[in-house]
Amino acid sequence: QPGSCISFFLPSSFWRVFYRIDNMRKIIVIGGGPAGMMAAFGASLTPENKVILLEKNEKLGKKLYITGKGRGNFTNTAETEVFFSKIMTNPRFLYSALRRFSNQELLRFMEEWGLSWKEERGGRVFPKSDHASDITRTLEKALRNNQVEIRLNTSVSKLLARKQGSSPGEGTNAGESGRAVCGVQLTSGQTLTADHVIVATGGVSYPATGSTGDGFRFAQELGLKVTELLPALVPFETKESDIPGLQGLSLRNVVLKVFDPKKKILFEDFGELLFTHFGVSGPLALRASSVLTKRLAGGEALVASIDLKPAIPEKELDERLVRHIAENRRREFSHFFEGLLPGKLKNVAQERCAIDSGQRIGDISKAQRKEILSLLKAFSFTIVGTRGFAEAIITQGGVSVKELVPKSMRAKSIRGLSFAGEVIDVDALTGGYNLQIAFSTGFVAGCEA
Ligand code: FAD
Repeated sequence: QPGSCISFFLPSSFWRVFYRIDNMRKIIVIGGGPAGMMAAFGASLTPENKVILLEKNEKLGKKLYITGKGRGNFTNTAETEVFFSKIMTNPRFLYSALRRFSNQELLRFMEEWGLSWKEERGGRVFPKSDHASDITRTLEKALRNNQVEIRLNTSVSKLLARKQGSSPGEGTNAGESGRAVCGVQLTSGQTLTADHVIVATGGVSYPATGSTGDGFRFAQELGLKVTELLPALVPFETKESDIPGLQGLSLRNVVLKVFDPKKKILFEDFGELLFTHFGVSGPLALRASSVLTKRLAGGEALVASIDLKPAIPEKELDERLVRHIAENRRREFSHFFEGLLPGKLKNVAQERCAIDSGQRIGDISKAQRKEILSLLKAFSFTIVGTRGFAEAIITQGGVSVKELVPKSMRAKSIRGLSFAGEVIDVDALTGGYNLQIAFSTGFVAGCEA
């Protein structure tokens, strides 16, 4: 100790350094995605912290690299109210984190560390370079500057915990006895002690990027509740046999409605839809999936309809059909949808109408015209499920927010443990909101560790 007889012989600077090393708190962050990198940065702002970031991949930010089709839509400039309206699960839990490290704070952070950015349609923000990898590069620069120790190819297999009051050296498998985390065990068998561990291991979507759900297991082993995990922002599978024939067709500016069995509207929005060999995808379907994934997982099949002419009110469209019939009266019905519908949809629409393809257009009855009208205003199909996690942009569900303190991301019942990012039961729509959530929860978890 400084002041003891040995200190008399040594300069005071030695004692200051020695004392600091001895009193440094060791913070381990598991997962080098956006949440983990930002958590490590947040923790490194306290000089007494020695921060170690563990990432099982050979590089940081493997999923970040493919975000925004490789361009990295890392936040959105939306005002607070709009921002929260895009958060699908547990927005209230995120109030404090998003206020403390808002989209504006994130943009300032990126600028300070050298990343130029640009805003695009709908407030989406990207690196000016159009390279998502520049986001990782920027974060890595900040981490190295703040002396965060980055260990790649390092996979954590379990958290170590101890009974409160026992010494850190007495760590056992988490969950057996402990209510305080005191370190981690690596898959190599090596153990690392820590004063605090932040779990930022992501969800289970796109598992090839490294997010294989390890954090959910860590939480469960400690007795923490993990809510049901479901794929979200994910394409739909449909029932009708004519839908796969539309593969590759993209419809812009259409309205998609999805109904429950009592015909109550569960989802309604406007945008772009893409037909695939299994069903429907595209921004509109992905958005709908975040609302509907729970019902679909419960085995419900949901009827959906697309308004193929949303800009034309029904009455006006009917008048147009009357004119169309008059102008094409001598032609056969097989030519009816020419000029009305794009590509492959013409054939599907024609087959869905109970009208003989050889019938003269001029002979179309009023009832048949009404049938065509309702087909154009409500082209329907049945959604039978979603695609799996391998194709999901985000995981819905995760470590229950009831287990965590919103201001710090710390576990309420276990000391020395926090969570950040997609591993928590929060998710949002596309547009940069999910990455902002990862950065905000990461920053708060790091600063409060
Ligand atoms: P992750 O990014 O998944 O990072 C977790 C990290 O932890 C991984 O690197 C993983 O290897 C590591 N890890 C896991 N287990 C262990 C372990 N046991 N030991 C050590 N390391 C471990 N969001 C947007 O806001 N904008 C977009 O443009 C966007 N585009 C997307 C496009 C695609 C194709 C996908 C799949 C997602 C997209 N997202 C987008 C969502 C966004 O990528 C996630 O919300 C975000 O990456 C979550 O960050 P995270 O740090 O919590 O988890």
